[in-house]
Amino acid sequence: MEDTRMSGQCHSCGAPVLFVASAKSGRPMILDATPQKRIVLIDVETGIPCATLPQPRPSSAVRAHVVDTLVDHHATCPAAEQWKGRRR
Ligand SMILES: [Zn+2]
Repeated sequence: MEDTRMSGQCHSCGAPVLFVASAKSGRPMILDATPQKRIVLIDVETGIPCATLPQPRPSSAVRAHVVDTLVDHHATCPAAEQWKGRRR
Protein backbone atom coordinates (compact mmCIF):
# COMPACT_ATOMS: atom_id res chain seq x y z
CA MET A 1 0.00 0.00 0.00
CA GLU A 2 1.34 3.41 -0.99
CA ASP A 3 2.09 5.65 1.96
CA THR A 4 0.86 9.19 1.37
CA ARG A 5 2.11 10.67 4.64
CA MET A 6 4.64 13.48 4.43
CA SER A 7 7.00 11.78 6.85
CA GLY A 8 8.51 8.34 6.70
CA GLN A 9 11.76 6.50 6.28
CA CYS A 10 14.34 6.43 3.51
CA HIS A 11 13.89 3.20 1.57
CA SER A 12 17.65 2.85 1.24
CA CYS A 13 19.03 3.59 4.71
CA GLY A 14 15.96 3.74 6.96
CA ALA A 15 16.65 7.28 8.19
CA PRO A 16 13.61 9.37 9.17
CA VAL A 17 12.80 11.70 6.28
CA LEU A 18 10.16 14.16 5.10
CA PHE A 19 8.57 14.10 1.65
CA VAL A 20 7.72 17.63 0.55
CA ALA A 21 6.96 18.97 -2.92
CA SER A 22 9.51 21.40 -4.31
CA ALA A 23 8.15 24.95 -4.69
CA LYS A 24 10.18 25.21 -7.89
CA SER A 25 9.38 21.98 -9.68
CA GLY A 26 6.46 20.54 -7.72
CA ARG A 27 8.33 17.25 -7.59
CA PRO A 28 8.64 15.59 -4.19
CA MET A 29 11.89 16.16 -2.36
CA ILE A 30 13.29 13.81 0.28
CA LEU A 31 14.58 15.79 3.27
CA ASP A 32 16.31 14.76 6.47
CA ALA A 33 13.67 14.92 9.23
CA THR A 34 16.15 16.46 11.69
CA PRO A 35 16.58 20.21 11.20
CA GLN A 36 20.00 21.85 11.24
CA LYS A 37 20.73 25.36 12.48
CA ARG A 38 21.96 27.55 9.64
CA ILE A 39 22.36 31.24 9.06
CA VAL A 40 20.24 33.14 6.57
CA LEU A 41 21.17 36.68 5.58
CA ILE A 42 18.13 38.91 5.24
CA ASP A 43 18.17 42.25 3.48
CA VAL A 44 16.97 44.81 6.04
CA GLU A 45 15.19 46.97 3.47
CA THR A 46 13.44 44.36 1.38
CA GLY A 47 13.14 41.47 3.84
CA ILE A 48 14.46 39.17 1.11
CA PRO A 49 16.79 36.37 2.22
CA CYS A 50 20.09 36.13 0.42
CA ALA A 51 23.11 33.86 0.57
CA THR A 52 25.68 36.49 -0.38
CA LEU A 53 26.18 40.09 0.61
CA PRO A 54 24.22 42.38 -1.69
CA GLN A 55 26.38 44.43 -4.01
CA PRO A 56 27.19 47.24 -4.22
CA ARG A 57 25.38 47.88 -0.96
CA PRO A 58 27.35 47.62 2.27
CA SER A 59 27.07 44.60 4.55
CA SER A 60 25.28 46.78 7.14
CA ALA A 61 22.20 46.37 4.92
CA VAL A 62 21.81 42.71 5.91
CA ARG A 63 21.29 40.89 9.20
CA ALA A 64 22.21 37.29 9.99
CA HIS A 65 19.27 35.18 11.20
CA VAL A 66 19.73 31.74 12.78
CA VAL A 67 17.03 29.42 11.45
CA ASP A 68 16.22 25.72 11.43
CA THR A 69 16.79 24.37 7.94
CA LEU A 70 16.31 21.01 6.29
CA VAL A 71 18.90 19.17 4.24
CA ASP A 72 18.25 17.26 1.02
CA HIS A 73 18.56 13.60 2.03
CA HIS A 74 20.60 12.97 -1.13
CA ALA A 75 23.42 14.85 0.60
CA THR A 76 23.48 12.67 3.72
CA CYS A 77 22.15 9.24 2.70
CA PRO A 78 24.90 6.60 2.95
CA ALA A 79 23.15 4.76 0.11
CA ALA A 80 22.88 7.81 -2.18
CA GLU A 81 25.27 6.20 -4.68
CA GLN A 82 22.51 3.70 -5.43
CA TRP A 83 20.13 6.53 -6.29
CA LYS A 84 22.31 8.14 -8.92
CA GLY A 85 21.10 7.81 -12.47
CA ARG A 86 17.87 6.27 -11.32
CA ARG A 87 15.06 8.19 -12.98
CA ARG A 88 11.46 7.27 -13.47
ZN1 LIG B 1 18.82 7.24 2.94
